[in-house]
Amino acid sequence: TVVTRFAPSPTGFLHIGGARTALFNWLYARGRGGKFLLRIEDTDRARSTPEATQAILDGLEWLGLDHDGEAVSQAAGADRHAEVARELLDKGEAFKCFSTQEEIEAFREAARAEGRSTLFRSPWRDADPSTHPDAPYVIRIKAPRDGSTVIRDEVQGDVTIRNDQLDDMVLLRSDGTPVYMLAVAVDDHDMGVTHVIRGDDHLNNAARQMMIYQAMGWPLPVYAHIPLIHGPDGKKLSKRHGALGVEEYQRMGYPAAGMRNYLARLGWSHGDDEFFTDAQAQDWFDLNGIGKSPARFDFKKLDNLSGQHIAASDDAALLHELQAYLAVTGEPPLPDAKTALLAAGMYCLKERAKTFPELLEKAEFILADRPIEPDEKAAKNLDDVSRGILAQLTPHLQNATWTREELEAAAMQFAESIDTKFGKLAGPMRAALAGRAATPSVFDMMLVLGREESLARLGDAAC
Ligand code: GLU
Repeated sequence: TVVTRFAPSPTGFLHIGGARTALFNWLYARGRGGKFLLRIEDTDRARSTPEATQAILDGLEWLGLDHDGEAVSQAAGADRHAEVARELLDKGEAFKCFSTQEEIEAFREAARAEGRSTLFRSPWRDADPSTHPDAPYVIRIKAPRDGSTVIRDEVQGDVTIRNDQLDDMVLLRSDGTPVYMLAVAVDDHDMGVTHVIRGDDHLNNAARQMMIYQAMGWPLPVYAHIPLIHGPDGKKLSKRHGALGVEEYQRMGYPAAGMRNYLARLGWSHGDDEFFTDAQAQDWFDLNGIGKSPARFDFKKLDNLSGQHIAASDDAALLHELQAYLAVTGEPPLPDAKTALLAAGMYCLKERAKTFPELLEKAEFILADRPIEPDEKAAKNLDDVSRGILAQLTPHLQNATWTREELEAAAMQFAESIDTKFGKLAGPMRAALAGRAATPSVFDMMLVLGREESLARLGDAAC
């Protein structure tokens, strides 16, 4: 079975690139009945914080990227990593290196002076163990010297690295702590990871991690190194361009489903499909749909997909997500007295709202109470003439049965009777019913509010 993993370093928030990497791994595993594992790469004790780990967990939870099993701490595996270094030593695939920092520096200087490669070549690699001093040492891998290493990457194709460019990297430091590269290879192997999908900034590491796999005789995972995300101008993604933590997107009011859809399209495609469900994404996601060039972050596209997901959401689920949105932003919760009306009106609130703030703006006609205070824009639609028209209109509506057809017919007839277009009525009606200019249609508002409340609001404004 397929096993993928997301292996963030807990040194900051879950940024957009990390979220996409997690999503790709999640989609790949979920679409194949596989497992999606989470490993927190917390070996850099100085830079890793519990807050960052929490921020990553929160971000993944918000995005709905559930992992299988417990999150693994890489630091907790240090003994196991050291054990593999010793095993490689026993196998003759690694060696004890007693060279001091000064000796290594001297080697490099001489190499520079002679125009040779400055990659350190330890004199201890082939030394007789009986000549070993009783001194501190590091364990280094015996990197292959001839030929080349080919990374068969599912995205980048075959990437060839000449072995004379690989050094005998340190596996275990003189204080007995494992290096990061060893930890990653051992963890990926021990966790049974079959597919390593990650940013292409790790491509060079793959060659070094492969050395460890090969020295241990472990089967290699499939590699897929995905191009990084760039700004709309093609440059490195900056804050202004959206290089934010995913929680910022949550606070901006994007629904998680829209975010998932957008992130999936960031560097991966399936024909011309832009809008899709999770089930479709899981079904369609494949490594050969990942593009070779950097994806460009584009807020317009995010807005567009976000709006489509809001519109397509189940009303009750959307109300729930709206409440969660208010909770994270620290805004007051929806009043209990309004939730039934919000649920009933969700069908029209969710049309053409790109984010939760936009949806809330449209919900203002439900959230506000009489007397409705028109905002500046709406007030412009309530001059004396408009108020007079509303006063004339109200009796016509009073006589109508409260259905869309009858309300529409009554309003049209009235507009005709005063020789105007219905459009001229809509502004004043919006202002009276919602106190806002951006609202659902006046008929939707009247149907949601009901006869009594609607007529009262129109009456308030009509004098
Ligand atoms: N911890 C690495 C990072 O956050 C990822 C390592 C990997 O995926 O192999 O960039």
